Amino acid sequence: AKAKGRGRFQFYSGEMNARALQRLRMENELRKAIDNNELRVAYQPKVDVQQRKFIGVEALVRWDHPKHGIVSPAEFIPLAEESGLIVDIDNWVLHKACHQASEWLNMGITCPVAVNVSALNFKKTNLVERIKTALREADLPASLLELEMTESIVMSDIELNTERLTQLKEMGTSISIDDFGTGYSSLSYLRRLPIDQVKIDRSFVNEIDCNNEDMAIVKAIIAMSTTLKMEVIAEGVETTTQTEKLSKAGCHRLQGFFYAKPMPAKFATETLLAGFD
Ligand code: C2E
Ligand code: CA
Ligand code: CA
Ligand code: CA
Repeated sequence: AKAKGRGRFQFYSGEMNARALQRLRMENELRKAIDNNELRVAYQPKVDVQQRKFIGVEALVRWDHPKHGIVSPAEFIPLAEESGLIVDIDNWVLHKACHQASEWLNMGITCPVAVNVSALNFKKTNLVERIKTALREADLPASLLELEMTESIVMSDIELNTERLTQLKEMGTSISIDDFGTGYSSLSYLRRLPIDQVKIDRSFVNEIDCNNEDMAIVKAIIAMSTTLKMEVIAEGVETTTQTEKLSKAGCHRLQGFFYAKPMPAKFATETLLAGFD
């Protein structure tokens, strides 16, 4: 039994080493991914079902790995956050997305673009400067840029965040709270922060077909945003029932595979040009 135990331990630690090595390799590859031009941006349209039109797109990063092909952010964003690489990645996506929105504007398509801002990136003192630079370089009005930040980022250091969010608002960008409902929000703080929109997390939308509690939470979030004069959008919408329940409950802004998947700029352009309906 002892030998077996030891063997098992060895196997376990061997596996751990392999994992650690794999992480290290991936981190090194990710470090070079920007310079090697391996990152891509996919754009997912958002719709307003009441106005029956596209109201914007969310920019989502992809890694076109030379060996593994397209790698989803779920696989490399956590690593990018731990290693600090996320700041460069977010910045690259920001520039790319601003240029894209500017190109659309030149084609006569007014389409706000949303980028995700990670915790580390939000804390960097030069965030506001970097956003200004990106907007200037792309010649994009700030009103066409949306910043998505999770609830936990916005709620973490209220003093700093109020100041930072106010600076971003004064610049003219709009601010959305991502994954809303999954973190811990203090309503009294939320009320004081310059937030334009909350995004109802996909996990609640997922289950509203069959789960009354989730529907109740969704309704509460909608009521809250109305009271606080914020817009509300639901993400991860996949079914007809979900769209019907959400819009009946007063949430008309929807994003999800039901309408459109994240897609390369070229297809996003075609989708936007074709219009909703
Ligand atoms: P997120 O910001 O909550 O983005 C929404 C995610 O849900 C995207 O996954 C999108 O493809 C997916 N999605 C959209 N509609 C549906 C649907 O109907 N059903 C399902 N099952 N999924 C749907 P993605 O692109 O894999 O991104 C995952 C997460 O990675 C994002 O979650 C975000 O937290 C992070 N991420 C992506 N791009 C960036 C980036 O440029 N910077 C940072 N900091 N994070 C990013
Ligand atoms: Ca997001
Ligand atoms: Ca989200
Ligand atoms: Ca998320």
